[in-house]
Amino acid sequence: MKILVVEDQRFTRRMLVRFLTNAGYAVEEAQDGCEAMEVLAREPIRFVITDWMMPCMSGLELIRAIRGRSLDRWVYVILLTARDEKSGIVEALDAGADDFIHKPFDNEELAVRIRAGQRIIELTERLERLAMTDPLTGLLNRRGLQETLAQSGSADAPLGCVVADIDHFKRINDARGHDRGDLVLKQIAELLRGLFEPDGIVARVGGEEFWLLLRNGTPAELCERVERARSIIAATVLTDGGGDPLNLTLSFGITAVPALQGRDITTLFKIADGALYASKQNGRNRVTCAAPDACP
Ligand SMILES: [Mg+2]
Repeated sequence: MKILVVEDQRFTRRMLVRFLTNAGYAVEEAQDGCEAMEVLAREPIRFVITDWMMPCMSGLELIRAIRGRSLDRWVYVILLTARDEKSGIVEALDAGADDFIHKPFDNEELAVRIRAGQRIIELTERLERLAMTDPLTGLLNRRGLQETLAQSGSADAPLGCVVADIDHFKRINDARGHDRGDLVLKQIAELLRGLFEPDGIVARVGGEEFWLLLRNGTPAELCERVERARSIIAATVLTDGGGDPLNLTLSFGITAVPALQGRDITTLFKIADGALYASKQNGRNRVTCAAPDACP
């Protein structure tokens, strides 16, 4: 875990950094709240230990900025303070501090308070992962994909947006029941994951609909990769858990660009969705590659 230490007094800052480093934490330093906000914008740090009195942006102002809308993630904050009057503590907690510790700090106390914070961060991260995951397949769900897209990669690299849909899946659910349908979905998810990760991202965004984000390859190569995946899946024998072997096909729509260059990724997925529709119209079990400037 990485901890950001914010303290204007060089001596105290050095002591804290040394203590935390010896305790096995990775550490970043900032000498006031302004610098701290720059570090937090640059690095996904979730743990901050901050002094109260500082020249540019006090500890309280920093906490308010962290709790405000300027950060996209939840951060745990311990406020270091020489004050010990009750009103100061009330003010700190009210501003959004999670914990506080008095200066000069006691090593043992600081260590256990950090571990307490670490437990809360781990729980938060676990909940965030759950909220972004499809429970059936373990793939990202729509929200997880959106979060990942928002943070992902350079706009200068080639990129393929793919919408895939299992052909005639309703027939499976109708004829064999939802439990068996779920088993089939899991196998398709595993196949897609094996074929496209780790270069790409696979998400389940609806019942039998998957969205994929592909990287590493020219647009033509990305289209070929999808075509290869389509034929591998069509040739794979699945099981529905009831003994009957099962062949399924997927229809795909893809649009690939050499670089995002200011394009909206949602628009690219809309174009891919239009291409998927064409695949369905033209007989299913096929890949349609749409030009990025095609009408959605
Ligand atoms: Mg100070």
